[in-house]
This record gives sequence, C-alpha cells and structure tokens, in this order.
Amino acid sequence: MPKSSKYIFITGGVLSSLGKGIASASIGLLLKQRGYSVTIQKFDPYINVDPGTMNPFQHGEVYVTEDGAETDLDLGHYERYLDVNMSKANNATAGQVYYDVLTRERKGEYLGKTVQVVPHITDEIKRRMRTFDGKVDVVITEIGGTVGDIESLPFLEAVRQLSLDLGQGNALKVHLTYVPYIRSAGELKTKPTQHSVKALMEHGIMPDVLLCRAEMPLDDEIRAKIGLFCNVEVRSVIEALDAETIYEVPMMFAKRGLDTIIAEKLHLRKHDGDLETWSKFVRHIKAPSKKVTIALVGKYVKYRDSYKSISEAFVHAGAINNAEVDIRWIDSERLKPENIKEKLKGVDGVLVAPGFGSRGIEGKIAAIKYVRERGIPFFGICLGMQCAVIEFARNVAGMADANSSEFKKTTHNVIDLMPDQQGVVDKGGTMRLGSYPCVLTPRSKAAAAYRSERITERHRHRYEFNNAFREQLTKAGLRLSGTSPDGRLVEIVELKDHPWFVGVQFHPELKSRAVTGHPLFVDFVKAAVKHAKSGKQRPTSRKRV
Ligand code: GLN
Repeated sequence: MPKSSKYIFITGGVLSSLGKGIASASIGLLLKQRGYSVTIQKFDPYINVDPGTMNPFQHGEVYVTEDGAETDLDLGHYERYLDVNMSKANNATAGQVYYDVLTRERKGEYLGKTVQVVPHITDEIKRRMRTFDGKVDVVITEIGGTVGDIESLPFLEAVRQLSLDLGQGNALKVHLTYVPYIRSAGELKTKPTQHSVKALMEHGIMPDVLLCRAEMPLDDEIRAKIGLFCNVEVRSVIEALDAETIYEVPMMFAKRGLDTIIAEKLHLRKHDGDLETWSKFVRHIKAPSKKVTIALVGKYVKYRDSYKSISEAFVHAGAINNAEVDIRWIDSERLKPENIKEKLKGVDGVLVAPGFGSRGIEGKIAAIKYVRERGIPFFGICLGMQCAVIEFARNVAGMADANSSEFKKTTHNVIDLMPDQQGVVDKGGTMRLGSYPCVLTPRSKAAAAYRSERITERHRHRYEFNNAFREQLTKAGLRLSGTSPDGRLVEIVELKDHPWFVGVQFHPELKSRAVTGHPLFVDFVKAAVKHAKSGKQRPTSRKRV
C-alpha cells in the first residue's frame, strides 16, 4: 500500500447534469484497469444532513452502501464501474460537515475561538478528503454542484488547500465543462468553458485536464483555442461526446489517452490498461441478439433517476443474457384493474418497484394479481415484495382486507412494523439500513439463481413481513425462500407453480455491477427471454397457486 495516495479532484462547470459521476467512475475504472487501487468520494454542497430523506422526484435514487449510509446516486456509478464497495466515508454533504463542526463547537472543543468557514469548515472537509489517504493508490474526489455556486465555495477552497499540501505531482485537477454547438452559426462555442475555467481560477484552482462535453467532435483548432485561453496543454483538452451507453465512456476517454495523461501527471508507473473484458461487455450492450420488454411499475417513473440502480441492473443483466431490456415505465397511480391488460400488453416480465407511502399501491397490487394469474415473470423489490404478500393474502389466502400497516390498519396487516421500529420519530437514517445476511431455502428459485444458500443484501425499509400470518400464508402456498439466519425476518417470498415469481425485501439492484450483474436480475431477464420465446402470454389460469 502507498504511504500517501495520489488525488484527482473533479469539478464541473457551465451547467449541471453533465455526467460528473460517470466521468469520475470512468477515470476510476481506467486507473483500476492499470492495476491501481482506487476509491471515489463525493462531496455534495447542499445542507441536508440526511440525504435519505430527500425527495426522489428532485434528487433521484438514494443509494445505500454496505455499512448503511444513505448516499447520492453517483456512489452507485462508482460501485458499478469499480466493483468496489463504497461506505459512509465516500459521501459527505455540506450539512454533515457543518453538523460535525457545530457539534464540536458546542462541546467546547474550539476553546472559545471564533468558528469560521476558513479554517474550520475547510479543515473538516480536508480531514474527510484524507480519510482514504494511504489506503489506496488513487483517491478521486468529486465535488458536486457547479463552479460559481455559493454552496461550493468551501469545497473548492479545500481542494485548493489540499492540492497545495499534497504538492506537485500528487494532485490533479480535472474540470468537466460544456462546449455547446450553436446550430444557426454552425459552430462549437468555447466561451462558456473559458468563463467556467476563469471562475475556477478565481478560487485558485488551475485545471490540469478539461473534459469537454459536446454533441460534436472537437477539432484540433478548437482544442487549441480552449487550451490557449484556459491555460491547459492541448492534449489535455479532451472531448467527451455523448455515448450510446454510459459504459462506453471509459473507452472513449482511453482512446483520447486520458489514462496515460493522468498516469504521467501523477507520476504513476506505466502499466498497460486492459479494457478487454469491459469492451466485450459494452459490445453485448450495443448489439444484443434479442429483445425483451419489462414493465417497471412505480410511483416515481416520471423521474427515471429515482430508479437508477434498477435500470442499470437491467443493462447488466441484459448484456449477460445477450438481450436488450426495453423498460416500459408504468405509473402505478394510473394503473387500474380496468386498464391493466392494455398497459401490460406484450410485456415479458413485470418489476414492481420500491417506494414509500400509499399512493399507487392498489395499482401495484393489481399488476401483481395479473402477472401471478398469467404466469408472467414477476420481480418485486422491497415495497414490491410487500405488495406481493398483500396481493397473495387478499386473493389466494382469503384475507380480503390484507394490507400493510404503513397504509391502513386492518385485522390482516401482513406487513407490519417490528417492535424495534415502533415509535421511531426521527426520519433520517433510522430504517433497517445496509447489509444483512440471508439464508436461502435449498432448491428454491432464489437459491438456484444465487447458486448459494447464504447471501448478504442491502436493506432500506421500516416495515417487514408479519410473522403472525406466516403459517396462514405458507399453507396457502407462499414460499418463504429466504430468511434472516435466526429465521425471524422473511427476506424472500416466491411461488412454486409459477415460471418466475420472486419478491425480495432487500434491494438487489444496489449490488448489480457492470460485467458481472446481479444473480436475481440475470435470472429474471432469463425468465423474461424464455417468456418472450414462448410467443405470447399464457392463457389466463384461475387455478390457485
Ligand atoms: N415503504 C416500505 C417500508 O418502509 C418499503 C420501502 C422500500 O421499498 N424501500 O418498509
């Protein structure tokens, strides 16, 4: 292990949503392929202390790490690309930084000094940036937000200071910008990039590499112009064109020599990168031999980032099955027993998504009834699994008023709070969070998919399968194929006489990685391919399962 790590700081300018997370993950992958150990940290400039309580419509999915941190969805990209687990220490918000400093101040640890942004807040940011120092070869530090935002200032100041502390050759500054194409002029425009770099320089940060997002290729002339005005050597002005799939970005960067430039500037010994396996994976994504349609039934479908890990897990599972997974996004609030047939027409599988609150629940339950009765592959995740239990209780086990106590108190709350969750009032970070072991029933669908009988998966929920109805539900045919090792918590339910009907209390999508995928997603897509091959949806069978 290195005594101290090399650092790459990644900032963004001009506008948001340029794909800083993907750029960070791609750089990380390129260095990993060259034999270096890498981790990526993300600093978010907003004040929220618990990103877990933020609205998915505004902020996308909450990504949960092994150690139970509720983090920004970019950490999902880092894990998917690097195949390395992230942790609490990989994500920090401005709110968390301030919270720590203020807690210390109230304990009197600053001995009555005036507590200030510089040095106290910046020192705390730098301390966090140093968490992995010496533990990996390269630490990539992504600064959220856009240069010029008021919120970003302490983070940029920390980057400036830390770069100075680390010294030449140990810190590299990468800036992601945008070079718009103006149709009427028929030209790519460099001015926004110039302004963004100028703003960055005002904070004492001189970029070493510019990643220029653009819709059109940047010719040598334009790169020379950007290089000259932004004080960056021309070869380090790198175009980042829109890619057909995000997994192609590392290869695009490699083609332009980005990894060689980084290795040189950080004095990393030269190894040849090996992108062979990755390229093969990308080829499978781009040229699949078949196609399946999978309905994703959820409440937040209008904002697809809310299901980022699920849609990426389908990309991985699709590549492995040599199939394109076409996701049909279905708003559960608009799903009614009357329109279900039309909405689910031609689908080869249905995934009922995680979620919170009662809106859209009945739509989800109706979809589950439909696929259960017709033998269409079904995958329920977290709330999706809970809905499957409710549906089964109502329509097969004869408990007409079955429900989750999250939505309605009834005599059959088949999903309920466990004693340790009763009376919890703080919303932030108090759910069952992070990795838990699970024991699988031999010869179940789950065990076959995992090819193992003991697994660990990540959780993020308050409610659980209610053991008071365990006997009644299993007698009616529900198979509990995964439980906590002490048998107390039901983690997986499935149906025996159905081609593929699996509900999981955890979030398997969070552990799906590029190239290798996730066993359950891979098996679910396989079942969907089989369903598609069989030609059409099986005729309605009213037979009890
Ligand atoms: N709302 C449910 C619970 O809290 C499910 C959560 C989820 O789908 N992540 O248990």
